[in-house]
Amino acid sequence: MNKNSKIDARRNPANRPSHYFDRSSLVQLLYAVTILFIQLALLQNCNPSKKPDPSLFLSTFAQESSGEPSNCIPSIGCGRVLGFDGWVEIQIGELPILLTVPHGGTRTPTEMGNRTIGTLGNDSHTLELTLAIREEIVKRFGKEPTLILNHIDRSKVDMNRSRNEAVDDEISDIFQANLVAYNEFHLFARAAKDHLRQKFAKGLLVDVHGHGQNENVVQLGFNLTEPELESDPNTWAGTNLHGSSNIAGLIQSGRMTLQEALIGDRSLGTLLTEKGFSAFPSRQMRDFASAADNQYFTGGYISDTYGSRHEGTLDAFQMETPGPNIRDEENFRIEYAKKFVESLQTFLEVGGYL
Ligand SMILES: [Zn+2]
Repeated sequence: MNKNSKIDARRNPANRPSHYFDRSSLVQLLYAVTILFIQLALLQNCNPSKKPDPSLFLSTFAQESSGEPSNCIPSIGCGRVLGFDGWVEIQIGELPILLTVPHGGTRTPTEMGNRTIGTLGNDSHTLELTLAIREEIVKRFGKEPTLILNHIDRSKVDMNRSRNEAVDDEISDIFQANLVAYNEFHLFARAAKDHLRQKFAKGLLVDVHGHGQNENVVQLGFNLTEPELESDPNTWAGTNLHGSSNIAGLIQSGRMTLQEALIGDRSLGTLLTEKGFSAFPSRQMRDFASAADNQYFTGGYISDTYGSRHEGTLDAFQMETPGPNIRDEENFRIEYAKKFVESLQTFLEVGGYL
């Protein structure tokens, strides 16, 4: 019997000892069960984080302070209301002004998957800038605007995108916690829009962002393109250009023409530039063509979704602020907030918002 014959003989069940197959299988089974128990134990110890149930997130709102009926939204609460685990929040005010901050968060909850697709970087200090603007509004108007703040890092969720672009894969389990924050942010935004519609003839949403480009210009995005804004303004009245903008409600109200609202003496861009902060569009800057790698932001998902272009009377624009002289240091933020709110007040009064 050569070597091969010996192996062949063992493979033949008839030649095996009676206990050969059973003992081996039992050892393998015990080994597998032990490994399974160790893995389960490790899984429990390493992943103690709570997972929110997306279907129950409405019940998780935590109200920090009660408020007067004037700053309550029945479906949400009153005053300052937090979403699940404080990931997003709304501060309900009494003015027809809504400030949203989608890219100023820095929290990275472990239960949220990491995005790998799209823009992942935050707009640094936009949360602080918005709070400075809020302070100035309170000083100047004696009342509060409504704020919707996102505290989650953009590497986890992008609030200024449609739901299917907010995370890599909206179906995957990995991103369901991320989408809880997303759903709450937009639930707050829809509720705030409806609330303002019921209380005021019209309102204004300012979506606060920060850009990293070197042109040092405040970009105001009304959902009109750079070529449209740089075209001959005398032709605007004869077109439906205002209907494509997210200040369609203002133009339809007859308080300002599109030309007055965008590049007139009392437009936001013109007023900001007069106060030392170059802005586009404005009377002073009719051509944005600066360095070739600078991009003009026409506006994004938030201003487009809640602005008056589609329906309603909530006008909206995206405000892209530069870092130097505006966002990067506290004294800059306070100074910009002051000048912005001064400009905003003039614009709101002329536009008939107040
Ligand atoms: Zn942004």
